[in-house]
Formats: sequence, structure tokens, C-alpha cells
Amino acid sequence: MITLKFGGTSVGNAERIRQVCQIVKSELTRKPIVVVSAHNSPSVHMTDALVATARAAREGKADTTKVQEAQRGICRDLGVDAEAVGIERLLERFDQLIKGIAMIGELTPRTMDVVMSFGERMSGRVVNDVLRREFGVDSIYRSSVSLGLRTDANFGAAHPDPRSFPAVAKQIEDLNPDVLVTTGFIAATDDGQITTLGRGGSDYSGTIFGAITGSEEVQIWTDVSGVMTTDPRIVDGARSIPELTFMEASELAWYGAKVLHPATMIPAMENDIPVRVKNTSDPGHPGTVIRRSVVEAAGSPVAKSVAVLNGVQLITITTGRMFGAHGFMSKVFDVFNRNGVDIHMIATSEVSISVTTPKGQHVEKAAEQIKEFADVAVDRDMSLISVVGEKMKGTPGVAARVTGAMARSGVSIRMISQGATEINIALLVRENQVKRAVRELHKEMFE
Ligand code: ADP
Ligand code: ASP
Ligand code: MG
Repeated sequence: MITLKFGGTSVGNAERIRQVCQIVKSELTRKPIVVVSAHNSPSVHMTDALVATARAAREGKADTTKVQEAQRGICRDLGVDAEAVGIERLLERFDQLIKGIAMIGELTPRTMDVVMSFGERMSGRVVNDVLRREFGVDSIYRSSVSLGLRTDANFGAAHPDPRSFPAVAKQIEDLNPDVLVTTGFIAATDDGQITTLGRGGSDYSGTIFGAITGSEEVQIWTDVSGVMTTDPRIVDGARSIPELTFMEASELAWYGAKVLHPATMIPAMENDIPVRVKNTSDPGHPGTVIRRSVVEAAGSPVAKSVAVLNGVQLITITTGRMFGAHGFMSKVFDVFNRNGVDIHMIATSEVSISVTTPKGQHVEKAAEQIKEFADVAVDRDMSLISVVGEKMKGTPGVAARVTGAMARSGVSIRMISQGATEINIALLVRENQVKRAVRELHKEMFE
């Protein structure tokens, strides 16, 4: 078996969807499980449109026209009978939900997950219908919810429950379709409430389904030819990387490479399933293959890629009395812990501790509480740059090259750390200077 995940842009319009069907058809012998995202194109950002519609409803404005027109437009372009495949019924339900939100004036994370689920549930039906009608493939559609994929109730960023996997596998086995089209991004709690895995979560769904079905490979089809040496939106000359290890890909994903949702590598690593990242518009390009270990060619660059995470917050805690004061650290981290603040980078000296937290973490309360025993400063709008590569381990002089490139870029480093695994050097800089820094780093490491 093989699992093929198609991202939003890959199902963004009629032309792309036909390319997707062509790719699926060419893999028929491997019994593909097809995991799809909601439509995403310059004219239809479906998940964003669903979110915006719900937010407007909370403020009292219930108007689903944009979502309806976008979805019907795609159906029309592909000759999909929206009524017959159940899309009209979903649009009707979405409209009722939006009216409900407007009436109550409340939008909980739980409701937001139901709102966002409509995107994948509609695009799954579209892809399945085109496969059947136009491409003559005997495929069936089942949402991941109806297949029985379960998560905890952490709405907006739910964690899959592996105990639900055997039943999903059994269902798929019983259905035994030539092709199964299912939904990325969504699942449900034990009591049937719809959940989502976090924005961009369809990649994660892809490897979850790969693990469930014992796929020989998971392919992530997107709008670039694999994982690149850095975000191609920052550096024009970014190149596709032929091979990455699970560790490298995982590090890149957690540290901001948008091409993979952070948790994507977990099921792949646990089950040792190779993941291939490929371009829907250029299927002949080999893309990137991610596997447990990779044989490095002699003379290959010491780093594999540079990832960027924006919206990072830097919290600096200073005290004159820290030297020798037992328990100061644990006191600080206890405050973060009690306030549910996630931390990803730490640097300490005798008189200060600096920590970074990802975007969206509410650090205000923690900062107030720390102020009772130390001085606290919070810097927002920082970016974390990560230079990643297993070969960096044990290669002397990498840090010097990295800091040298930073010096040439003229961007000052607020914090620097090399993780214990030595496959990542992370640098914190101001967000408005990050592009300059990344371009210079890319030049040094790859050009
Ligand atoms: P999809 O809709 O297929 O899930 P995404 O937009 O989520 O696609 O991810 C693909 C995008 O990720 C690329 O278009 C690119 O702009 C961005 N990106 C950021 N970092 C990288 C990287 N290192 N390699 C490739 N793409 C990257
Ligand atoms: N449609 C969802 C999103 O836009 C999930 C995904 O695309 O992976 O976040
Ligand atoms: Mg994505």
C-alpha cells in the first residue's frame, strides 16, 4: 500500500485536481490511500475563508456566500454534481452552523474545529468524484471521522489516539477499495466531536494513515519540488534536497519549515516508513525522500537546510541574587509550567535566564508572577533561524561559519544555541532582519 497526501494548493483548482487524479491513477497497483486538504488557491483559501466566516458570524454577521461560491465554482469547473455527492448538504449545514454562531455570538475552539472541518470534507468528495467519473477509477470516499480516527479533546491541536488505529485499519481492510479518498487535518473525540490536528495538519494525517495501513511509503504532494535548502519565499536560489533523515526533517518541521507540519515525522519514525515530498505540478521531479539514515556523498554541504520560525517571543529574566541561589531555575520553570507556557530555547548565565516561546503563547501572566522575585523583559517579533544537518555533528568550524555569515549580514544575534544532538544551530534575531540573515547564511552554507 501507499499513502498519498495532497496539500491545499494541489487541490486548489480544476487543473490541479486533474493532475492529482492522474498521479493517483498511476499508483493504482499500490492501492493508494489518498489524504486530501481543503482547496487552497489565490482565489480560494478555503480553510481561511471558513475561519473568517465564523469570526464574522461571532460579531453578528452571518454570510456564507464566499464559501458557497468558491466551493460551487470548483464543482462547476470539474462537472461535479454538488447535490449528488453531498456537497450541497454540507454547505447547507455550514450555513446553519454560521447562523447559530451569529445568534449566540460565541465561537469556542470546539465549534471552530467543526467550522474548519467542512473544507476537507468537501474537497474529499470532489477528488473522489473526479477520480470516478473522469478517470474511471473505482475509488470510494470516507471521511477520517467516519473511518473512526480518534483524538483527545484538545480542540485546535488535537493529538491522535493510537488506540483507535486498529479499528480504522480493519475498516479499510473490509472496504478493500482500489482507492480510498479520505480527509486530512480532521478526526473526532471518542464521543464524536470533530477535532483538528492544527493548521497544516494534513501532513500529519498523511503519516498517521501511512502508519495505520502499514504503507510502504507516504508521499506528501505539494507546490514545491521537495524540502528545500531554505524557504523559497526568502531565497530565490533555494534548492531541492534529495535526501533527509527523519531527524533532520523533524527538526526542520518543528523549527518552521512550513512544507511539513511539525508532528509529521512522528508516525513515520515510529514505523520506519519513508516519506517522499513531491511537486504536483512537476511529478517527474524526484523531490525529497526522508528516511531513517542517509549516505552522504563526499563533499556534500555540511548543513542540509535553514528553517525560519517567525513570531517568537524572547523572555529575559535577570536577578542579582541568582549566583548560588538554590532553586532559582526551578522556581522560574515552575511558573512557566503552571501557566502552560511552552519553551523551545534556553540560555543561562549567572545572573540571567533567557527563554524563547513560540508565537501565540500567552506569557503575560507568567511574566507578572516572575516579577515577584526577578526582573523580566519580553521581546516580541523575534525570529528563530535554525541551521540543520546531521553532518554538522562532529564537523569542526560550523558555528564559526554560521556566525561569520551573520556578521557579514550585519544582523545581530540575540541568542544562540546548539542542541545536545548537535544537528541544529539556532539563532534568534529580530523578525524584521531575518531575511537578510537567512540570505547570507544560505550563501555561506550552500552557494
Ligand atoms: P500544502 O498546501 O501542500 O500543504 P504548504 O503551503 O503548507 O503546502 O507548504 C509548502 C510551502 O512551504 C512552500 O510553497 C514554501 O513556500 C514553504 N516552505 C517553507 N520552508 C520550506 C522548505 N524548507 N522547503 C520547501 N518549502 C518550504
Ligand atoms: N486545510 C488545513 C489548513 O489549511 C490543513 C492543511 O492544509 O494541512 O490548515
Ligand atoms: Mg501544508
